[in-house]
Amino acid sequence: MGSPPNTFFPIDSFPGNTQHADNLAMRPCPLCAGEDHRQILELTDFQFFTDSAGIPKRATLRQVQCRHCLTLFLNPCYTLQGFAHLFAEAGKSYGSTALRPGEQRAWLAMRDLLAPGTVILDVGCYEGSFLASLPDNLLRQGVDIDSPAIARGRARHPDIELVHSAFDQFPLSRQPQLITLFHVLEHLPEPAAVLARLHAIAAPEARLVIEVPVLEHGDTNDINGFFSVQHITHFSRHTLSGLLGIAGWKIIEAEKIEGYNGYRVLAEKTDRQDPPHGNPADIARLQEILACWHKAHRSVEDKLARLSEALKIVIWGAGLHTEFLYQTSSLFYPSERRFLLVDSDPIKQGQSWRGIPIKAPDAMADIDWSEARLVISSYGGQPAMIKAAREAGIPDNVLIPLYNEIHVY
Ligand SMILES: [Zn+2]
Repeated sequence: MGSPPNTFFPIDSFPGNTQHADNLAMRPCPLCAGEDHRQILELTDFQFFTDSAGIPKRATLRQVQCRHCLTLFLNPCYTLQGFAHLFAEAGKSYGSTALRPGEQRAWLAMRDLLAPGTVILDVGCYEGSFLASLPDNLLRQGVDIDSPAIARGRARHPDIELVHSAFDQFPLSRQPQLITLFHVLEHLPEPAAVLARLHAIAAPEARLVIEVPVLEHGDTNDINGFFSVQHITHFSRHTLSGLLGIAGWKIIEAEKIEGYNGYRVLAEKTDRQDPPHGNPADIARLQEILACWHKAHRSVEDKLARLSEALKIVIWGAGLHTEFLYQTSSLFYPSERRFLLVDSDPIKQGQSWRGIPIKAPDAMADIDWSEARLVISSYGGQPAMIKAAREAGIPDNVLIPLYNEIHVY
């Protein structure tokens, strides 16, 4: 077995990859509407997934902090067009947080929120699988902006009312008594407007359940870090409480959900509050989060050092994780290095990323491992990739995983 000379490619600036001004737009602070903020970090010319001539797939991303209320947010933010273009290959309308319907159902039931006849609205319901996990003596409604997901959900769950709509203006047949938003709020450009709309349509005695990742629990050894590019507001306990307050909601119970970064609150209707001043503790916590992020990248450098002088590198994983390696790591130096990408997602196979072709993992059967190395470029997927690589007979000494341990978060 020898490598055909054209197997490995230099990283390149694919000429079709551009930025487009209409993909991003500046916005005021999502909590206090202030215009004064400072930059926390920037990812320059960040590429979203594969190369694509004609469709702008790059954007310079800036995370900022409001100088008044200390809310952390992406600014400029994705426009609707930008979201459609940049996340076209993301696979799901919102992130990839694994929901846990069983645990969520038990949590609601323990608080007597699932009495027969209760009208429940799940905002960001995707295909309606959480609603489908609830007792059918509830009146179940869901809304999502992902039209194909709603269509699939309707076919699968004809007894559930699923609406395709934006979240700040949707028609409902009944006034909800229980509203749930599990890992949705951090994805919304105008979260206050959505919460105010929910306040307007909810029954007077309604309960609101919200779960988001928060700064307080954002430490991770994943190089994607707390500032996920899929999240456009990064809440702390303080700023989440403040946002609910300006929309007329008061937190009556709050809990850290174990096993991943989920902070769940239960709220009831109250009078609208003024935006709060910032909590100085949020700045200390931000510095810890950034220190943790840099430490994760430093740790990856220790793994990449094993590449030593190797000039032929196979990267397994053509997703955003590899773009983060491009943004921050030494993987693409020296410039004489040549690369091949493999990914098990059929949608990515046959495409390229920054000029490097993406093939199915079975392309690795033709690689001469005496001179090539395999970098596993995924956080959550690392254990499965290592297993598959070993099963494919790839020797352990060429395998470069980037993490000592993986935490679900
Ligand atoms: Zn603010």
